[in-house]
Amino acid sequence: MREEVKHPLQCTPACRRGFLRSVASATIAGLAGPSLLMTSAHADALTHAQRDSMTPEQIIALMKQGNERFRRGERKDRNYLREQKASAKGQYPAAVLLSCIDSRAPAEVIMDLGIGDIFNCRIAGNIENDDILGSMEFACKLMGAKVVLVMGHTSCGAIKGAIANAELGHLTGLLARIKPAVDATQYDGERTATNYAFVDKVARKNVELTIAQIRRDSAVLSEMESQHGIKIAGAMYNLSTGAVEFFGS
Ligand SMILES: [Zn+2]
Repeated sequence: MREEVKHPLQCTPACRRGFLRSVASATIAGLAGPSLLMTSAHADALTHAQRDSMTPEQIIALMKQGNERFRRGERKDRNYLREQKASAKGQYPAAVLLSCIDSRAPAEVIMDLGIGDIFNCRIAGNIENDDILGSMEFACKLMGAKVVLVMGHTSCGAIKGAIANAELGHLTGLLARIKPAVDATQYDGERTATNYAFVDKVARKNVELTIAQIRRDSAVLSEMESQHGIKIAGAMYNLSTGAVEFFGS
């Protein structure tokens, strides 16, 4: 009896019908052999056909499910060595993330993802710039990623620094890119870096503005989004609860 080995970013029953239909189409088109999904090597890293068979919405749904597993303490028992071997000759990541460098918010861990599943740009305060956009355009246009996810988090030190007008070397310029979010955040209470409610509201606004800037500054990505090739969405990770809240998706 053959044991079915599933990749964590492989569709669950909720999306299986569409997934299998797409895989069947890919097989007919000669893109995938009959052994697809049947060997451990395929299950240990996303294949080209697996990734391309998923819609952006399905990919986001699977990231949500991964975060739920993380929160329940039920992360998949991964074999990173097998994932490394399975992905060594090619990568087909489903998404590109833009997240903060905060040591407590590692996207792959908190959404139970493995080697080869996502591209991950990490920079303090998850802001965009030309180099980040270049990385995202590479990920989507050239490598086929279907989701651009900007993920902020609670109690973000970069957000606090922007609110407090902190200055330090090159950090000053980086924080300047966050300050528009501070100004744009509507909040009636104390607008200080020690008021966590305000800090978290600015962090969310920063994600929203970053998404708007990505659409404004990247003709490549905005065109792909308008033609339904990719989805650009936002998320906030709560350090206290472990939950990733998705929005704009
Ligand atoms: Zn942060």
